[in-house]
Amino acid sequence: MQEALFYSKLGNNKVRCELCPWFCQLNSGQTGICKVRTNEKGKLITLVYNKVAALGTDPIEKKPLYHFHPGKNILSLGEVGCNLHCSFCQNHRVSQCFADEFKGFHNITSEKIVSEALKTWNNIGVAYTYNEPLTFYEFLLDTAKFAKQAGLKNVVVSNGYINEGPLNRLLHFIDAFNIDLKAFSNEFYKKQTSGKLGPVLQSLKIIAKSKIHLEITNLVIPDLNDDEKQFGTMVEWIALELGNYTPLHLSRYFPQHKLQQAPTSIKKLEVLYNIAKQHLEHVYLGNVIDEKRSATYCSHCKKLLIERKRYKTGLNGIDENGRCKYCRANNNILL
Ligand code: SF4
Repeated sequence: MQEALFYSKLGNNKVRCELCPWFCQLNSGQTGICKVRTNEKGKLITLVYNKVAALGTDPIEKKPLYHFHPGKNILSLGEVGCNLHCSFCQNHRVSQCFADEFKGFHNITSEKIVSEALKTWNNIGVAYTYNEPLTFYEFLLDTAKFAKQAGLKNVVVSNGYINEGPLNRLLHFIDAFNIDLKAFSNEFYKKQTSGKLGPVLQSLKIIAKSKIHLEITNLVIPDLNDDEKQFGTMVEWIALELGNYTPLHLSRYFPQHKLQQAPTSIKKLEVLYNIAKQHLEHVYLGNVIDEKRSATYCSHCKKLLIERKRYKTGLNGIDENGRCKYCRANNNILL
Protein backbone atom coordinates (compact mmCIF):
# COMPACT_ATOMS: atom_id res chain seq x y z
CA MET A 1 0.00 0.00 0.00
CA GLN A 2 1.31 3.43 -0.96
CA GLU A 3 1.70 5.99 1.82
CA ALA A 4 -0.12 9.24 1.05
CA LEU A 5 1.59 12.62 0.80
CA PHE A 6 0.46 15.66 2.80
CA TYR A 7 -0.72 14.48 6.19
CA SER A 8 0.17 14.91 9.88
CA LYS A 9 0.14 12.44 12.72
CA LEU A 10 -2.00 13.64 15.64
CA GLY A 11 -1.15 10.95 18.22
CA ASN A 12 -3.16 7.87 19.28
CA ASN A 13 -2.91 6.61 15.69
CA LYS A 14 -5.03 9.56 14.48
CA VAL A 15 -4.01 11.44 11.29
CA ARG A 16 -5.03 14.65 9.53
CA CYS A 17 -5.03 14.67 5.72
CA GLU A 18 -3.87 18.02 4.34
CA LEU A 19 -4.42 17.44 0.62
CA CYS A 20 -7.71 19.28 0.31
CA PRO A 21 -9.78 21.83 2.24
CA TRP A 22 -11.68 19.15 4.16
CA PHE A 23 -8.60 18.40 6.34
CA CYS A 24 -10.19 15.05 7.31
CA GLN A 25 -9.16 13.86 10.77
CA LEU A 26 -9.19 10.08 10.67
CA ASN A 27 -8.91 7.45 13.37
CA SER A 28 -7.28 4.15 12.48
CA GLY A 29 -9.54 2.30 10.01
CA GLN A 30 -11.42 5.43 8.86
CA THR A 31 -11.56 6.63 5.25
CA GLY A 32 -11.73 10.28 4.14
CA ILE A 33 -14.61 12.11 2.48
CA CYS A 34 -13.05 11.40 -0.94
CA LYS A 35 -13.44 7.62 -0.30
CA VAL A 36 -9.90 6.74 -1.41
CA ARG A 37 -7.54 7.72 1.46
CA THR A 38 -7.57 5.71 4.62
CA ASN A 39 -5.85 5.65 8.01
CA GLU A 40 -4.15 2.29 8.41
CA LYS A 41 -2.78 1.99 11.94
CA GLY A 42 -1.65 5.62 12.13
CA LYS A 43 -0.40 5.88 8.54
CA LEU A 44 -2.42 7.60 5.80
CA ILE A 45 -2.47 5.48 2.69
CA THR A 46 -3.95 5.92 -0.77
CA LEU A 47 -6.12 3.00 -1.91
CA VAL A 48 -5.84 3.92 -5.60
CA TYR A 49 -2.12 3.93 -6.39
CA ASN A 50 -1.19 2.04 -9.62
CA LYS A 51 -4.86 1.52 -10.48
CA VAL A 52 -7.17 2.82 -13.18
CA ALA A 53 -10.91 2.48 -13.63
CA ALA A 54 -10.86 3.84 -17.19
CA LEU A 55 -8.11 4.34 -19.76
CA GLY A 56 -8.72 5.48 -23.33
CA THR A 57 -7.78 7.96 -26.02
CA ASP A 58 -9.89 11.10 -26.44
CA PRO A 59 -9.70 14.17 -28.66
CA ILE A 60 -8.22 16.99 -26.53
CA GLU A 61 -11.41 18.95 -27.32
CA LYS A 62 -13.35 16.47 -25.17
CA LYS A 63 -11.63 17.54 -21.92
CA PRO A 64 -12.63 20.30 -22.95
CA LEU A 65 -9.48 22.16 -24.00
CA TYR A 66 -9.91 24.26 -27.18
CA HIS A 67 -6.71 26.31 -27.06
CA PHE A 68 -4.22 23.57 -26.17
CA HIS A 69 -2.91 21.48 -29.08
CA PRO A 70 -6.24 21.59 -30.98
CA GLY A 71 -6.88 18.57 -33.19
CA LYS A 72 -4.64 16.26 -31.14
CA ASN A 73 -5.52 13.24 -29.00
CA ILE A 74 -4.69 12.57 -25.38
CA LEU A 75 -4.50 9.30 -23.46
CA SER A 76 -7.00 9.78 -20.64
CA LEU A 77 -7.25 7.96 -17.35
CA GLY A 78 -9.54 8.03 -14.35
CA GLU A 79 -10.06 6.16 -11.10
CA VAL A 80 -12.75 6.39 -8.43
CA GLY A 81 -13.40 8.98 -5.71
CA CYS A 82 -14.08 12.66 -5.39
CA ASN A 83 -13.81 15.22 -2.61
CA LEU A 84 -17.07 16.96 -3.66
CA HIS A 85 -20.53 15.40 -3.79
CA CYS A 86 -22.31 17.24 -6.58
CA SER A 87 -26.04 16.56 -6.86
CA PHE A 88 -25.68 16.78 -10.68
CA CYS A 89 -22.47 14.71 -11.09
CA GLN A 90 -22.17 13.22 -14.58
CA ASN A 91 -19.68 10.57 -13.44
CA HIS A 92 -21.24 9.64 -10.10
CA ARG A 93 -20.81 5.88 -10.64
CA VAL A 94 -17.06 6.27 -10.32
CA SER A 95 -16.73 9.55 -8.44
CA GLN A 96 -18.99 8.55 -5.55
CA CYS A 97 -17.72 4.99 -5.15
CA PHE A 98 -15.53 3.74 -2.30
CA ALA A 99 -12.19 2.46 -3.59
CA ASP A 100 -12.47 -0.78 -1.62
CA GLU A 101 -15.94 -1.52 -3.10
CA PHE A 102 -15.08 -0.89 -6.75
CA LYS A 103 -14.72 -4.06 -8.81
CA GLY A 104 -13.47 -2.67 -12.14
CA PHE A 105 -9.88 -1.60 -11.37
CA HIS A 106 -6.98 -2.53 -13.67
CA ASN A 107 -3.54 -2.56 -12.09
CA ILE A 108 -1.08 -0.50 -14.08
CA THR A 109 2.17 1.37 -13.43
CA SER A 110 3.06 4.94 -14.36
CA GLU A 111 5.75 3.60 -16.72
CA LYS A 112 3.21 1.46 -18.58
CA ILE A 113 0.84 4.42 -18.99
CA VAL A 114 3.65 6.53 -20.43
CA SER A 115 4.71 3.77 -22.82
CA GLU A 116 1.05 3.47 -24.00
CA ALA A 117 0.90 7.24 -24.49
CA LEU A 118 4.09 7.20 -26.57
CA LYS A 119 2.66 4.46 -28.82
CA THR A 120 -0.71 6.17 -29.38
CA TRP A 121 -1.27 7.93 -32.72
CA ASN A 122 -1.51 11.75 -32.75
CA ASN A 123 -1.22 11.75 -28.96
CA ILE A 124 0.32 14.64 -27.00
CA GLY A 125 0.38 13.13 -23.53
CA VAL A 126 -1.69 12.02 -20.56
CA ALA A 127 -4.90 13.51 -19.16
CA TYR A 128 -6.00 12.86 -15.58
CA THR A 129 -9.78 13.09 -15.73
CA TYR A 130 -13.21 11.33 -15.44
CA ASN A 131 -13.35 11.22 -11.62
CA GLU A 132 -11.58 13.89 -9.50
CA PRO A 133 -7.88 13.31 -10.26
CA LEU A 134 -6.59 15.28 -7.27
CA THR A 135 -7.87 12.46 -5.05
CA PHE A 136 -5.33 10.11 -6.68
CA TYR A 137 -2.66 12.75 -6.22
CA GLU A 138 0.31 10.43 -5.61
CA PHE A 139 -0.28 8.33 -8.73
CA LEU A 140 -0.98 11.45 -10.77
CA LEU A 141 2.23 13.11 -9.59
CA ASP A 142 4.43 10.07 -10.29
CA THR A 143 2.86 9.44 -13.71
CA ALA A 144 3.16 13.12 -14.63
CA LYS A 145 6.88 13.06 -13.73
CA PHE A 146 7.50 10.07 -16.03
CA ALA A 147 5.39 11.59 -18.78
CA LYS A 148 7.29 14.87 -18.62
CA GLN A 149 10.65 13.08 -18.74
CA ALA A 150 9.40 11.30 -21.90
CA GLY A 151 8.55 14.66 -23.53
CA LEU A 152 4.77 14.26 -23.13
CA LYS A 153 2.24 16.84 -21.92
CA ASN A 154 0.17 16.45 -18.75
CA VAL A 155 -3.41 17.71 -18.51
CA VAL A 156 -5.54 17.84 -15.35
CA VAL A 157 -9.34 18.15 -15.47
CA SER A 158 -10.41 19.00 -11.96
CA ASN A 159 -12.79 20.69 -9.54
CA GLY A 160 -9.84 22.72 -8.18
CA TYR A 161 -10.65 21.68 -4.59
CA ILE A 162 -7.12 21.34 -3.29
CA ASN A 163 -4.86 23.09 -0.80
CA GLU A 164 -2.18 25.52 -1.90
CA GLY A 165 0.90 23.40 -0.99
CA PRO A 166 -0.10 20.26 -2.94
CA LEU A 167 -1.24 22.36 -5.90
CA ASN A 168 2.06 24.24 -6.04
CA ARG A 169 3.98 20.95 -6.04
CA LEU A 170 1.91 19.64 -8.94
CA LEU A 171 2.36 22.76 -11.06
CA HIS A 172 5.96 21.80 -11.95
CA PHE A 173 4.69 18.87 -14.00
CA ILE A 174 1.35 20.00 -15.47
CA ASP A 175 1.00 21.73 -18.84
CA ALA A 176 -2.73 22.50 -18.88
CA PHE A 177 -5.73 22.54 -16.58
CA ASN A 178 -9.44 22.61 -17.16
CA ILE A 179 -11.05 23.65 -13.88
CA ASP A 180 -14.77 23.43 -13.17
CA LEU A 181 -16.10 26.67 -11.76
CA LYS A 182 -19.51 25.38 -10.82
CA ALA A 183 -21.10 28.68 -9.74
CA PHE A 184 -20.10 32.03 -8.28
CA SER A 185 -21.95 31.45 -5.03
CA ASN A 186 -20.81 29.84 -1.82
CA GLU A 187 -24.43 28.90 -1.11
CA PHE A 188 -24.56 26.90 -4.36
CA TYR A 189 -21.29 25.14 -3.51
CA LYS A 190 -22.54 24.33 -0.01
CA LYS A 191 -25.96 23.01 -1.07
CA GLN A 192 -25.16 21.35 -4.38
CA THR A 193 -21.55 20.14 -3.99
CA SER A 194 -20.91 20.00 -0.20
CA GLY A 195 -17.80 22.16 -0.72
CA LYS A 196 -16.94 25.86 -0.64
CA LEU A 197 -16.30 28.38 -3.39
CA GLY A 198 -13.25 30.09 -1.83
CA PRO A 199 -10.70 27.27 -2.29
CA VAL A 200 -11.68 26.87 -5.97
CA LEU A 201 -11.12 30.59 -6.61
CA GLN A 202 -7.78 30.37 -4.81
CA SER A 203 -6.70 27.43 -7.03
CA LEU A 204 -7.73 29.31 -10.16
CA LYS A 205 -5.66 32.34 -9.12
CA ILE A 206 -2.62 30.16 -8.35
CA ILE A 207 -2.82 28.40 -11.72
CA ALA A 208 -3.32 31.66 -13.63
CA LYS A 209 -0.35 33.24 -11.83
CA SER A 210 1.82 30.24 -12.72
CA LYS A 211 1.12 30.92 -16.45
CA ILE A 212 0.20 27.27 -17.00
CA HIS A 213 -2.49 26.98 -19.65
CA LEU A 214 -5.94 27.28 -18.06
CA GLU A 215 -9.46 26.85 -19.38
CA ILE A 216 -12.64 26.92 -17.30
CA THR A 217 -15.88 24.95 -17.55
CA ASN A 218 -19.16 26.19 -16.10
CA LEU A 219 -22.13 23.80 -16.22
CA VAL A 220 -25.25 25.98 -16.48
CA ILE A 221 -28.11 24.54 -14.40
CA PRO A 222 -31.59 26.10 -14.67
CA ASP A 223 -32.60 28.13 -11.59
CA LEU A 224 -29.55 27.02 -9.58
CA ASN A 225 -26.62 28.92 -11.10
CA ASP A 226 -28.01 30.74 -14.16
CA ASP A 227 -28.84 34.08 -12.56
CA GLU A 228 -27.62 36.64 -15.09
CA LYS A 229 -26.36 39.14 -12.52
CA GLN A 230 -24.39 36.53 -10.63
CA PHE A 231 -23.08 35.06 -13.87
CA GLY A 232 -21.98 38.55 -14.96
CA THR A 233 -20.05 38.96 -11.70
CA MET A 234 -18.36 35.61 -12.32
CA VAL A 235 -17.15 36.44 -15.83
CA GLU A 236 -15.97 39.89 -14.68
CA TRP A 237 -13.97 38.16 -11.93
CA ILE A 238 -12.45 35.73 -14.45
CA ALA A 239 -11.42 38.59 -16.74
CA LEU A 240 -9.95 40.64 -13.91
CA GLU A 241 -8.24 37.93 -11.86
CA LEU A 242 -7.32 35.31 -14.47
CA GLY A 243 -7.17 37.30 -17.69
CA ASN A 244 -9.67 38.04 -20.44
CA TYR A 245 -8.01 35.48 -22.73
CA THR A 246 -8.96 32.60 -20.40
CA PRO A 247 -11.25 30.34 -22.50
CA LEU A 248 -14.63 29.69 -20.86
CA HIS A 249 -16.80 26.67 -21.76
CA LEU A 250 -20.48 27.01 -20.93
CA SER A 251 -21.85 23.52 -20.79
CA ARG A 252 -25.50 22.51 -21.12
CA TYR A 253 -26.90 20.61 -18.14
CA PHE A 254 -28.93 17.40 -18.58
CA PRO A 255 -30.60 15.53 -15.69
CA GLN A 256 -28.10 13.36 -13.84
CA HIS A 257 -27.66 11.66 -10.47
CA LYS A 258 -29.81 13.40 -7.82
CA LEU A 259 -30.81 16.41 -9.91
CA GLN A 260 -33.70 15.73 -12.27
CA GLN A 261 -34.85 19.12 -13.50
CA ALA A 262 -35.24 19.93 -17.21
CA PRO A 263 -32.13 20.55 -19.35
CA THR A 264 -30.84 24.11 -19.75
CA SER A 265 -32.65 25.94 -22.54
CA ILE A 266 -30.60 26.92 -25.58
CA LYS A 267 -31.94 30.46 -25.26
CA LYS A 268 -30.53 30.77 -21.73
CA LEU A 269 -27.15 29.50 -22.89
CA GLU A 270 -27.12 32.12 -25.65
CA VAL A 271 -27.98 34.92 -23.21
CA LEU A 272 -25.14 33.87 -20.88
CA TYR A 273 -22.80 33.46 -23.85
CA ASN A 274 -23.49 37.09 -24.84
CA ILE A 275 -22.88 38.31 -21.28
CA ALA A 276 -19.59 36.38 -21.12
CA LYS A 277 -18.46 37.78 -24.48
CA GLN A 278 -18.64 41.31 -23.03
CA HIS A 279 -15.72 40.41 -20.74
CA LEU A 280 -13.90 37.43 -22.25
CA GLU A 281 -12.36 36.96 -25.70
CA HIS A 282 -13.02 33.22 -26.07
CA VAL A 283 -16.33 31.74 -24.91
CA TYR A 284 -17.75 28.39 -26.10
CA LEU A 285 -20.98 26.45 -25.78
CA GLY A 286 -20.63 22.76 -24.98
CA ASN A 287 -23.03 19.78 -24.84
CA VAL A 288 -24.97 21.42 -27.72
CA ILE A 289 -24.63 21.40 -31.50
CA ASP A 290 -23.70 25.01 -32.26
CA GLU A 291 -20.85 25.31 -34.75
CA LYS A 292 -20.79 29.10 -34.56
CA ARG A 293 -20.37 29.22 -30.79
CA SER A 294 -17.93 26.34 -30.67
CA ALA A 295 -15.55 27.87 -33.23
CA THR A 296 -12.55 30.08 -32.39
CA TYR A 297 -12.38 33.57 -33.91
CA CYS A 298 -9.45 35.98 -33.83
CA SER A 299 -9.93 38.49 -31.02
CA HIS A 300 -8.28 41.14 -33.21
CA CYS A 301 -9.48 40.75 -36.85
CA LYS A 302 -12.50 38.51 -35.98
CA LYS A 303 -11.71 35.97 -38.75
CA LEU A 304 -12.46 32.27 -38.23
CA LEU A 305 -9.38 30.48 -36.84
CA ILE A 306 -10.55 27.02 -35.76
CA GLU A 307 -13.74 25.22 -36.84
CA ARG A 308 -15.22 22.42 -34.75
CA LYS A 309 -17.80 19.88 -35.88
CA ARG A 310 -18.38 17.68 -32.86
CA TYR A 311 -14.81 16.45 -32.29
CA LYS A 312 -13.53 17.18 -35.80
CA THR A 313 -11.27 20.22 -35.79
CA GLY A 314 -10.22 22.38 -38.76
CA LEU A 315 -7.20 24.58 -38.08
CA ASN A 316 -7.36 26.61 -41.30
CA GLY A 317 -6.98 30.07 -39.72
CA ILE A 318 -3.85 29.61 -37.60
CA ASP A 319 -0.18 29.54 -38.50
CA GLU A 320 2.44 27.06 -37.27
CA ASN A 321 2.81 29.04 -34.02
CA GLY A 322 -0.91 29.12 -33.27
CA ARG A 323 -1.22 32.79 -34.27
CA CYS A 324 -3.91 34.22 -36.52
CA LYS A 325 -2.88 33.55 -40.13
CA TYR A 326 -4.46 36.82 -41.30
CA CYS A 327 -3.28 39.43 -38.75
CA ARG A 328 -0.75 37.39 -36.64
CA ALA A 329 -2.56 38.17 -33.39
CA ASN A 330 -1.90 35.89 -30.42
CA ASN A 331 -5.13 34.23 -29.24
CA ASN A 332 -3.64 32.14 -26.45
CA ILE A 333 -3.51 28.99 -28.63
CA LEU A 334 -0.71 26.55 -27.85
CA LEU A 335 0.44 24.05 -30.50
S1 SF4 B 1 -8.13 14.42 0.09
FE1 SF4 B 1 -9.75 13.08 0.92
S2 SF4 B 1 -9.00 12.41 2.91
FE2 SF4 B 1 -7.77 14.18 2.28
S3 SF4 B 1 -8.78 15.95 3.24
FE3 SF4 B 1 -9.59 15.76 1.16
S4 SF4 B 1 -11.43 14.50 1.36
FE4 SF4 B 1 -10.27 14.24 3.25
